[in-house]
Amino acid sequence: MRESVRDRLLAGYDGTADRDGVSGKRLAERLAALASIGETEDGGVNRPGFSAEEKRAKEQVMTWMREAGLDVRMDGAGNVIGKLEGKTDVPAFAAGSHVDSVPNGGNFDGPLGVLSALEVVEAWKETGYVPPVPVEVIIFSEEEGSRFGAGIMGSQAMTGDLGRDALSVLSDSGGNSFEEVISAYGSSMDAFLEAARDPEEIGFYAEIHIEQGKLLEQAGLPAGIVKGIAGPAWLNALFHGTAGHAGNTPMIGRRDPLVAAGRFVHEVSSLPARFSDTAVATVGKLNVSPNGANVIPEQVALTVDIRDLDKEARDGLVRKVRETAERCAAEAGVEVELNLASSIDPVPVTDEVREELAQVFGQAGIRPMELMSGAGHDAMILGRNVPMAMIFVKSIGGISHNPAEWSDLDDCITAVHLLKRFAEKRMEKMAGHED
Ligand SMILES: [Zn+2]
Repeated sequence: MRESVRDRLLAGYDGTADRDGVSGKRLAERLAALASIGETEDGGVNRPGFSAEEKRAKEQVMTWMREAGLDVRMDGAGNVIGKLEGKTDVPAFAAGSHVDSVPNGGNFDGPLGVLSALEVVEAWKETGYVPPVPVEVIIFSEEEGSRFGAGIMGSQAMTGDLGRDALSVLSDSGGNSFEEVISAYGSSMDAFLEAARDPEEIGFYAEIHIEQGKLLEQAGLPAGIVKGIAGPAWLNALFHGTAGHAGNTPMIGRRDPLVAAGRFVHEVSSLPARFSDTAVATVGKLNVSPNGANVIPEQVALTVDIRDLDKEARDGLVRKVRETAERCAAEAGVEVELNLASSIDPVPVTDEVREELAQVFGQAGIRPMELMSGAGHDAMILGRNVPMAMIFVKSIGGISHNPAEWSDLDDCITAVHLLKRFAEKRMEKMAGHED
């Protein structure tokens, strides 16, 4: 266990939130235990998807799951499923997250969601509560995409959204194919594909995750309600002009693709506000070639990442970005090729679920603030097929994907209580006993 993480978590915790079977000390010790698996010098973790470290973190959680009385299995995609029987055998209430990390990532992104769900089960065990429907605590494989640049792989395996064709083109930075990596992990391509489950088995999915932003901190709130997950669209633009010597080519008559791309990047930043107050657009990747100090570029390739909660607004923004690229190219006398590389639909949280969450927050004396998730999560995949809920926990300074990532134990435990209360109410509905 990493003592510093445990001690720091417990130092700020007064224990008054330890009730109804929930234990802050247990959650702190478990977060600290995972923090020591793949730990880096500056206090972060390295647990890429399908690595030995990711597997060790899963095995540690599987041990705790068994001790908590769950029926535990790992599927062919490496997803861990810990099942608690309910009074009836209708579809399960599932909750979880991931334990893989980005390179030198933090100690809360992922583990908090898995360990909070397990803490809810621990609390039920201690108080003798038997859920009306089965409950599953799930660890999804390779959420971050740090292995193959793909991400959310385990959840897509479970919903059957990843096929053999998509998998066979993947390779990691070491040049290993997906087949080689999954074999070394103790599974196989076939077993990975067999992880797809009957959609009837899960009736609801809930996930606790750190906010990875500053809105809750600014509002002085421990936790918030996610109103939806923004769907990212990636538009590739290739500006093509004429290369030439920077010294010998007069300014008049140049066809410089970087002049077009520069104007385009600048204009893109002002477009989202015209569509909605949640829309965002970012150029984070740009390649100039040949990229020489004394050469007018021949071409510039860039990617625009465009997101919003509302699909229509998002798609409208994509069209506007396309038009803007074409105009900027025409004005600079260059050509542009546009190609929508991927487009994932936004996943909204239903009004009914948001109202239920707001009630639970209200009963706990917490103002129910709603936030958009700009980042993708496993809940985005599960949420295509079943209703889902996400609770965000305050991130100190909004820092994430960094060893300095931190959430206070008080806030984490508050979220555990909120999830527990929400799950109890939701499961009554799932079992057919309206409250
Ligand atoms: Zn995450």
